Amino acid sequence: MARLLLRGEDLGPVRAVLFDKDGTLSHSEPLLVKLGSARIEAAIERVSIEQGTQLRDLLQRAYGLGVGGIDPAGTTAVASRAHNLISTATAFCQVGLSWAEALSQSEAVFAQGDVLLGSGSLPQSQPTPGLTQLLLALRQAGVRCGVISNDESSGIQHFLECHGLQDGFQAIWSADHRPCKPDPAAVHGLCDALGIAPSDCALIGDADSDLTMAARAGVPVVIGYSSGWSLRPDLSAPHHPLEHWSELSIT
Ligand SMILES: [Mg+2]
Repeated sequence: MARLLLRGEDLGPVRAVLFDKDGTLSHSEPLLVKLGSARIEAAIERVSIEQGTQLRDLLQRAYGLGVGGIDPAGTTAVASRAHNLISTATAFCQVGLSWAEALSQSEAVFAQGDVLLGSGSLPQSQPTPGLTQLLLALRQAGVRCGVISNDESSGIQHFLECHGLQDGFQAIWSADHRPCKPDPAAVHGLCDALGIAPSDCALIGDADSDLTMAARAGVPVVIGYSSGWSLRPDLSAPHHPLEHWSELSIT
């Protein structure tokens, strides 16, 4: 079985590596900042000027959009579209809308964002530096790879196909699958799709929720990637820290 090395240290045998997408495989921040900002502008157009001032502040904090970049543990960085929609509706409620109205307005705001996403006018997310070389090394060593993400399947496929990475991954587990991450059963579902036991896997993510999920799922090699955002993720769950893909090698 192939062995995974981190800066020369043997982390153990692996048959598969499971990757988070946003902030790990993908430098998603430029896209997510634009998308989150567009959703905020679309939202405040739907309320009074007084409500709009309060709503902007609430949504910026709910989405984790700050001056220095996105909060790597915030809703935009970590949560699914559906959960972001619920947090938007909650903010609408906080400025005085009923729940039914808040949900309806949030759905309209997200539909506007979807049009923007489909138009190709938002920045294209790039793979994080050095990823392609690592995927090639894993493939040559016969190690299978999977994506475990709260993006939708179409978003994951689009990212992989845009960068010619689709052949590097044998399975994905997205927000369209049940249960979603960070339920450890999401790891088990992806492992089943790959035909590999969790005990023969490594998982690489950029959020505590990824790392804790991996440990609870019985994944022995848990790696925290910290170079995917302007603001460094504050990872407190047990993990092996990784700054650049070139620090990993396979024997
Ligand atoms: Mg992530």
